[in-house]
Amino acid sequence: MREESGTPVIFSPEETRAIRDMLSRANEPPVCPRCESELDVQGPSEVGPRFYVKCHRCRRAVFIGQDSG
Ligand SMILES: [Zn+2]
Repeated sequence: MREESGTPVIFSPEETRAIRDMLSRANEPPVCPRCESELDVQGPSEVGPRFYVKCHRCRRAVFIGQDSG
C-alpha cells in the first residue's frame, strides 16, 4: 500500500460490480466492499445515470454508469 495524497485510488472491477449491485437494490446504503464502512454516493448526475462513489476510509472512488460500469 502506497500513501498518495490527492490521487484517488480506483476500486477494482470486482469491487465496482459489488457496489453497483448494492446501488441497484437501494434498500440499504451501500457499504465499501473493502472495509465495510458506509460509502459516499453522489448522483445520478445531470449528464446521465452516473454515480460517483467514494470510500473515505480506503480513499477509493469509482464512477458507476449504465455501460460497462
Ligand atoms: Zn473502504
